[in-house]
Amino acid sequence: LCASACVSSAGQTVPPAITPDPEIEANIQKWLKQMTLDEKVGQMCEITIDVVTDFEKSKNGFALSEAMLDTVIGKYKVGSLLNVPLSVAQKKEVWAAMIKQIQDKSMKEIGIPCIYGVDQIHGTTYTLDGTLFPQGINMGATFNRELVERGAEISAYETKAGCIPWTYAPVVDLGRDPRWPRMWENYGEDCYVNAEMGVAAIRGFQGDDPNHIGENRVAACVKHYMGYGVPVSGKDRTPSAIPRSELREKHFAPFLSAIRAGALSLMVNSGVDNGMPFHANKELLTDWLKEDLNWDGLIVTDWADINNLCTRDHIAATKKEAVKIAINAGIDMSMVPYEVSFCTYLKELVEEGEVPMSRIDDAVARVLRLKYRLGLFEHPYWDISKYDRFASPEFAEEALHAAEESEVLLKNDDHILPIARGKKILLTGPNANSMRCLNGGWSYSWQGHRADEYAQNYNTIYEALCNKYGKEQVIYEPGVTYAPYKNDNWWEENTPEIDKAVAAANNADVIIACIGENSYCETPGNLTDLTLSANQRNLVKALAATGKPIVLILNQGRPRIVNDIVPLAKAVVNIMLPGNYGGDALANLLAGDVNFSGKMPFTYPKLINSLATYDYKPCENIGQMAGNYNYDSVMDVQWQFGFGLSYSTYQYDNLRADKSSFNPDEELTVTVDVTNTGGREGKESVLLYSSDLVASSTPDNIRLRDFEKISLKPGETKTVTFKLKANDLAFVGYDGKWRLEKGDFKLSCGNQQTTITCTQTKVWDTPNR
Ligand code: BGC
Repeated sequence: LCASACVSSAGQTVPPAITPDPEIEANIQKWLKQMTLDEKVGQMCEITIDVVTDFEKSKNGFALSEAMLDTVIGKYKVGSLLNVPLSVAQKKEVWAAMIKQIQDKSMKEIGIPCIYGVDQIHGTTYTLDGTLFPQGINMGATFNRELVERGAEISAYETKAGCIPWTYAPVVDLGRDPRWPRMWENYGEDCYVNAEMGVAAIRGFQGDDPNHIGENRVAACVKHYMGYGVPVSGKDRTPSAIPRSELREKHFAPFLSAIRAGALSLMVNSGVDNGMPFHANKELLTDWLKEDLNWDGLIVTDWADINNLCTRDHIAATKKEAVKIAINAGIDMSMVPYEVSFCTYLKELVEEGEVPMSRIDDAVARVLRLKYRLGLFEHPYWDISKYDRFASPEFAEEALHAAEESEVLLKNDDHILPIARGKKILLTGPNANSMRCLNGGWSYSWQGHRADEYAQNYNTIYEALCNKYGKEQVIYEPGVTYAPYKNDNWWEENTPEIDKAVAAANNADVIIACIGENSYCETPGNLTDLTLSANQRNLVKALAATGKPIVLILNQGRPRIVNDIVPLAKAVVNIMLPGNYGGDALANLLAGDVNFSGKMPFTYPKLINSLATYDYKPCENIGQMAGNYNYDSVMDVQWQFGFGLSYSTYQYDNLRADKSSFNPDEELTVTVDVTNTGGREGKESVLLYSSDLVASSTPDNIRLRDFEKISLKPGETKTVTFKLKANDLAFVGYDGKWRLEKGDFKLSCGNQQTTITCTQTKVWDTPNR
């Protein structure tokens, strides 16, 4: 780390991403002088709590095994622990007691507090009764930065209520391959949306001062660096082949923004790209992050990923060699998570001269800095009784509101929605009565499979509709159900009872079919076929034959192919994974008590051989205007990125830029007038796109450059103003350099377009923009 300014790999002087606090830095230097090598390598090690849990005692309250703590903290001086005892969410009092036990041990043995981290992915995932928000994919669909910030702030507060200071979020991978089982954890396919939402989340988690994280805030860990979302096979943690230009321009973008926003830590992508594991990539870890951005934060591995360099990726013959490669590449902390042998290997490597002491000191400084910034030296744990807003109705209201803004209306023929009170509803489908399905993974358990058990206080879609319409108005006949959770079998459905649902339809005015996926996460969520299950599609087909109008509710973490049943439905709502209040939100929307305002944060494919993101590079002559119409005709998508209906209609007029020509150092002001031409109040996400018409590398079809969500009363017009830096229109060329080239750019917003011209070409060679 350079104390004041660094020189980047491209020879630029870069100010520190986070201005260091001199007092913290002085303390770190003191520690580095007095710590033993054992203590130093221990700080770089992170162990899972599974190892230290005493399962017997935990049945009567909770306690960690003293014997294991003696080994992990006493002997190996381990500086960090993670994960959930017994693999399920715990009461905040249990968390607090456990953290106290760990910190007392750590302060006694090492004098340095332990840092504890958990995956609070979409709310307070691992604290019982914590407020669960919609998953990232839904938050992307809100196109509302404030909701994301507020959600993170509430999660930080509730995480602190369990004495936990660190969360492995936000997730800003780009969900660009719908086969990938973690698509729902991030904010969709677009790099700008992920960057903006990631920054909002970091503000919410950390507050304004990265050097002094407030008592209601936590340290963020932005992940997974980078390109995790595009494995060639579509399966989790399998190799990718990302072009260099795309890596720098798109996958890096949210991490760059996160670091500039003060993110205190970062987790590395488990995968291998073009044959090089990210955990071994010195250029991406050390050069791009630590040097080019002059960032003093902490880089932690993902689960067992140093060992994976040996056992899975075969770039190291031994686990010890794997440690050498990863630490020399720039890893600061190893999420081991089971083998303390990491400490032994690292110590030997230093003694043998294979890992320089300067690298160890840099890593340990980063660990200590994070602990100081969190105030853990002064308060390794704290009195949790003051956190009296934990799981409060106020927080629930905000999670409900986020869910309402996140559910996307994709089809509404003949204004079948809203459904008036007094109508008789047949509610069917395997997702109709399950909290597990509404929440998805990372919900009281890793796979979310315990959510049905632990989310008793919240409403499933069935319960929410009964509350809204009256129990007597809702006939519930699922037709298809998921088989009970069994290890290694995530997709099994019970023998369908479609006839029962069809018979029940005779007594209904409208059918609401809740279809999609059961909860899953990571590799167990791998698919052999993206098409929705045959049972579920057969259910919809049989119901359609009754002639009753069908409303399809898509409750899933990724777009399962449904092209054969969409034409059979009058309405379609994509609720994705809306969290604990997703059922209530849906009932409010279906009844018309709340207007729809979500838009698609990803492209919904129609056919399995037409998987493409909205910003694909066109491959046939579609003329000069690279707009949505042409995209549709080329890729034949089911629903476009940015698409979403409402009970209102909006008209766009008068898109204009303050300059018709600009040079690369200028700023542009772009405005558009938006009018609510419908009969009811609503919110509209206004999305501004650009298309570079000719460039030295084939330009993307179209790119999102900014968005703003506004509220409009019927008949009301608002002018939306976007400020763009000319550099925002740049791309990374085939040579890996940033380029803004002279020529015409088309700006588009709604049905409006205008052309502006760049007068000069600028080329620069740095990952920074
Ligand atoms: C996941 C990470 C997570 C970590 C710790 C890994 O398997 O890939 O996203 O933060 O486990 O639970």
